[in-house]
Amino acid sequence: MPTDLVTMDKIVSLCKRRGFVFPSSEIYGGLGSSYDYGHYGVLLKNNVKNQWWKAMLQERDDVVALDSAIIQHPRTWEASGHLAGFTDPLVDCRTCKLRFRADHLEQSACGRKPSKHPGETPDCDLTESRDFNLMFETTVGPVKEEGSTVYLRPETAQGIFLNFKNYLQFSRKKPPFGIAQIGKSFRNEITTGNFIFRTREFEQMEMEFFVPPDEAGTWHQHWLAERMSWWTSLGLRPDHLRLRAHDADELSHYSSATSDVEYLFPIGWSELEGIANRGDFDLTQHAKFSGQKLEYVDTATGGRYIPHVIEPAAGVDRAMLAFLVDAYDEDQIEGEQRTVLRLHPILAPVKVAVLPLVRKDGQPELATDVYRELRDHVQAEYDEGGAIGRRYRRQDEIGTPWAVTIDHQSLEDRTVTLRDRDSLAQVRVAIGELVDVIRGRLGEPWRSPKLDT
Ligand code: ATP
Repeated sequence: MPTDLVTMDKIVSLCKRRGFVFPSSEIYGGLGSSYDYGHYGVLLKNNVKNQWWKAMLQERDDVVALDSAIIQHPRTWEASGHLAGFTDPLVDCRTCKLRFRADHLEQSACGRKPSKHPGETPDCDLTESRDFNLMFETTVGPVKEEGSTVYLRPETAQGIFLNFKNYLQFSRKKPPFGIAQIGKSFRNEITTGNFIFRTREFEQMEMEFFVPPDEAGTWHQHWLAERMSWWTSLGLRPDHLRLRAHDADELSHYSSATSDVEYLFPIGWSELEGIANRGDFDLTQHAKFSGQKLEYVDTATGGRYIPHVIEPAAGVDRAMLAFLVDAYDEDQIEGEQRTVLRLHPILAPVKVAVLPLVRKDGQPELATDVYRELRDHVQAEYDEGGAIGRRYRRQDEIGTPWAVTIDHQSLEDRTVTLRDRDSLAQVRVAIGELVDVIRGRLGEPWRSPKLDT
């Protein structure tokens, strides 16, 4: 299987080496499962988010955007059920002092004998399981007093429900319509790990789609298909993606049906996105707790109802990890091993690198002009340092789909070579046509070359 080549260790090391992701607070010894995104990580994450906005907003007429506060009124979490029910069962081991999710013992390693699961060795001494709330608590105001406790949101969704009424009034939308938002969420996860797959601070891309109750099933199917096709359109290999419907005992307290989009990570099939039919649970709860009417009134007929909600909820960090894993490849060029990220060009942090062949004879000057022209249109990078082969390797490793090389001929006829990251084909292009050629290539459909190996 092609993924055998990719291990989490290789991804972690490339991410650090090339400035995608760094362990957070490293000079203080690090803070477990907390990461900082470096230059290329920021660019890649932004591209993922932009593609999500494009699919959710730009290409539709029925979804609008929101950016709600991270700290909401604490009643929000009473109404949503998070205060009482957003818990994981945890056990402590009195011997190794580690804490585990009671429902993840099979996937966890014993603190003293990592080849065994917690509870498997005679010396393991696990406590009874108890419920642990995953919300981070803090206080507002200078004094910690009653009523000052607030929570960092564990999902972005609730901010959308809290604004439902505003949106009915200002947006002139009526069901079916959606409200989308991207933002940070926080969960005090008991077992983190697997790099950026599960962290305590992460970013979500969530959309709540409000529909007439009798249309909920149809819209759920619609969003399952839409979301699967979004992931594949951005290059994820279809044989590494699947939809898995939750069993009845897995469903969240609010959900009548949920399917997960799962990706075949090096750690096995794992959730990328959950697509839930939340029914009228959230609006009903917030209506009850706030005393406000959260319903749609049809002014023509006078009919009123509480819309049902379909929610596609994806993680930005997990998405980035899936794209990196799917893109990672190694091959041989002229007997030398190369590491290359075969990212969809639309996601690649840098679209084009501009490289003078040598640092003399007017080449750096012409290359700088070409670079300045290109960077007005796409994310470009100029690099004149070191052997040309090494500069190509560096760009391959960060997934740059095209490299423009300025050589002695460029000064004579104002043409350059355009090198393709995947096919390694080099063609000569007139400098005056470069922007159009690159834009044209960016607009073409793309298919992972890993599908052909
Ligand atoms: P899991 O079962 O993996 O804990 P979940 O079902 O609790 O995830 P949701 O509440 O459905 O997750 O959140 C939607 C998406 O947010 C997930 O599909 C995932 O991509 C992302 N996500 C959730 N928790 C985390 C986390 N701790 N770190 C990174 N991403 C996360």
